[in-house]
Amino acid sequence: MTPRKTGLREYCRSALARGASWARVVPASYVVTAPWVRYKCRFGCGSYGARHLCPPNTPTPEETAAVVECYRTAILLMYESGPKGGERPLRRKVHRAVLALEREIFLDGFHRALAFVAGPCNLCRTCDVSKPCKLPGEPRPAMEACGMDVFATFANAGVKLDVVRDAGDPYKLCATVLVE
Ligand code: SF4
Repeated sequence: MTPRKTGLREYCRSALARGASWARVVPASYVVTAPWVRYKCRFGCGSYGARHLCPPNTPTPEETAAVVECYRTAILLMYESGPKGGERPLRRKVHRAVLALEREIFLDGFHRALAFVAGPCNLCRTCDVSKPCKLPGEPRPAMEACGMDVFATFANAGVKLDVVRDAGDPYKLCATVLVE
């Protein structure tokens, strides 16, 4: 069996090698959940109810808070959009990178490793909630889809995220892996 990495910061290096612009090991208590997050999905996002991994098909903030309490350590991850859009392919790329990191951590013996990505799952071109997920076991929900307050979570790690004002503006995709 592959030995465990000597320290969790090695997973940050793995994340950077897979395209993250920033990665940090933090106490899991930095991950903030709040009831209002789901309302932002429900009122203002066209993916609400339209995708398997979007609310109301995802865990509630209360359920997520209970799960986060099971962990001591998390890794926060950030990816840059670049100067111009291309959101769908980028989100897919980030989703796969975060999944690969979760798998690496899991295979190193952290059997509870659990990833949360950024934005609605778009691993497939279409997502039909009247049929089973086409890639069962593969996709992970977004932080915000599970009621995590991404702004407050990253602020706890000293990162101030700005609201994106215009559609063409660069933005950051934020993800996390609960580790142990
Ligand atoms: S993997 Fe495909 S079917 Fe499953 S949630 Fe993602 S987009 Fe929908």
